[in-house]
Amino acid sequence: MRPEILNPLFAEVTALKGVGPSLAKPLERLGLARIVDVAFHLPSGWIDRIPRDELMAHDAGRTIAITLTPREIRTSSSPRAPTRVQASDALGNYVSLVFFGRSSGMVRKLFTVGELVCVSGKVEQYGQELQIIHPEIMEEGDGTREREAIYPLSEGLTSRRLGAMVAQAIERAPDLPEWIEPSLLAQRDWPAWKAALARIHADPSDAVARARVAYDEIFANQLALALVRQDTRRRRGRALKGDGLLRDRLNLPYALTGAQGRSVREIEGDLAQDAPMLRLLQGDVGSGKTLVAAMALLVAVEAGAQGALLAPTEILARQHYETLRETLAGLPINVAVLTGRDKGRVREGVLMGLADGSIDILIGTHAIFQEAVTYRDLGLVVVDEQHRFGVAERLALSAKGKTTPHLLAMTATPIPRTLVLAQHGEMDQSRLDEMPPGREPVETRVISEERLDEVVNALGRHLAEGKQAYWVCPLVEESEKSDLAAAEARAATLAARFGDRVGLVHGRMRGPEKDAVMARFAAGETGVLVATTVIEVGVNVPNATLIVIEHADRFGLAQLHQLRGRVGRGGGQSRCLLMRGAALSETSRARLALMRETNDGFRIAEEDLRLRGGGELLGTRQSGEAAFRLATPELLGELLPVAFDDARLLIDRDGGLAGARGQAARVALYLFERDAGVALLRSG
Ligand code: ADP
Ligand code: MG
Repeated sequence: MRPEILNPLFAEVTALKGVGPSLAKPLERLGLARIVDVAFHLPSGWIDRIPRDELMAHDAGRTIAITLTPREIRTSSSPRAPTRVQASDALGNYVSLVFFGRSSGMVRKLFTVGELVCVSGKVEQYGQELQIIHPEIMEEGDGTREREAIYPLSEGLTSRRLGAMVAQAIERAPDLPEWIEPSLLAQRDWPAWKAALARIHADPSDAVARARVAYDEIFANQLALALVRQDTRRRRGRALKGDGLLRDRLNLPYALTGAQGRSVREIEGDLAQDAPMLRLLQGDVGSGKTLVAAMALLVAVEAGAQGALLAPTEILARQHYETLRETLAGLPINVAVLTGRDKGRVREGVLMGLADGSIDILIGTHAIFQEAVTYRDLGLVVVDEQHRFGVAERLALSAKGKTTPHLLAMTATPIPRTLVLAQHGEMDQSRLDEMPPGREPVETRVISEERLDEVVNALGRHLAEGKQAYWVCPLVEESEKSDLAAAEARAATLAARFGDRVGLVHGRMRGPEKDAVMARFAAGETGVLVATTVIEVGVNVPNATLIVIEHADRFGLAQLHQLRGRVGRGGGQSRCLLMRGAALSETSRARLALMRETNDGFRIAEEDLRLRGGGELLGTRQSGEAAFRLATPELLGELLPVAFDDARLLIDRDGGLAGARGQAARVALYLFERDAGVALLRSG
């Protein structure tokens, strides 16, 4: 149970004064549902609120307030191109105010040519020009405070509005008992928890206070992992020694690469111990992780246990199922699949097979860990694309076996050690640093979206040669709906030319529908598959050797690399065409140039971390699970080792978290919603 002292923080945002239904949507988009979310919504910087009337050469990269005169409002015939307001400062320097995804009518309501207007926002260099994307229009009286915190916003909210909510949230926040070691607190000169938050919102540049709250979050994370570790040690695992009989009967069309062989041996070694394996298999897209997983699962089955493979999406689960069935064809074992959509009889059948042990290997999505699913003897779990597998999942998993199952996590994203620690605690690693033979790097080109016709012609020639292609549609930030609209529109234009050789798959489709589309593409019945990013991870159709990615500049590097990894899987030359929008920031330009230059996932991941600060890898953007909100990658790098030691020390001294500091630490676990491990204390 959550400690009572935290209740005020976990009340809904609507408990704050002035927060009515009209704010619900914008707040929801920012993930601000409860008061604690508002308190933890840290300012991204501050703004000089006294508007100036001249742009300076060094303004690029800064957030400023400025008085401008709109000179011209430019719209484009393409609905996807932005509306631009050309405006000048008092000296006649030009800046363009850029609006994506808003009708020109809306923009015209905000600006009148020739009439002074005061705006604020971040100035960017775009080619020779300066621009501000989605500036905020300042109203009379906004310029009274010299320095104002700016917050990450969504449409319908202003920084001031959020600032007022934050102030109320802080006021309601209780003083919490101290969970940080007194000596560390003194050494770093850290304020108490509540004071630290108040300080950050008052002065976004307060590095000491920021470090304190980041540490709190990292500490809670490490403590949760330390609890799982303590529990795992108590339970022990069980040694799985395969006799090789199943693996000997495998009939592979190729030999394992050296790296695959090495990884399989490392995994075999771990499985033969009673301590549960905790191993991460890293290998770039296309390096052949699935086969390594299959070998590991066979070891478990040889040893008389069951194995499970967890995939992040339904499409991928089904595909792994097909692949494994094919790979394992002819072996006397039973492979099944289970995802959220399997209901009724099908589901009952699988559940029974798992319980009575007639199913040896289960492939599925998170559904395979639901409470109702019981295994006769689960010995090994393989998790594909690990970043959605956190502490809560680890616990659900431990509960599934008589002993704690061995765990193999697989990822295509090279993760720095600090992040591995943050996700899993200590982990061993195997690397697939060698590609299967015969792979040629994907040839990548960057093309302006204005040359769409040429791209469609190239697609036509490609299809005429009997080859297949993916066409990935732009990721529009605002909503899933617009993603869908864009994909549907593109599928329609392509169908006008290529007829029923065009397939469409998107995230909103129901499972069976998705399968049917994927199956037709895999069978070569459709030539081009138009898709939103649902194809991102893992899909394998070797005859697809061209991928077109629209609005490539809106994707992260890691994501682009994943997408590009859909091609280049068979022999022969594959191509990737990255279409870019008209307005391109320096960063986007650099990112696309890097994609053109290299196929090396490790290099791309490093650059990605550098360019966008690791949010992607930390899982803050996509996974939706409690990721890090307060700790930046830099602070993680610095503070995680400290928290790692501190959490272990606390558990060594007070494994039941019963002492005064232990009790305070429990509060931290609940505050950061990493309390899943607390239940272990009672049972232990
Ligand atoms: P990923 O690591 O991205 O999950 P996959 O496991 O999907 O990669 O493998 C990519 C492709 O490489 C598949 O078509 C698979 O059959 C093939 N492959 C895997 N191992 C080898 C190998 N040793 N030799 C040749 N091809 C291989
Ligand atoms: Mg894979």
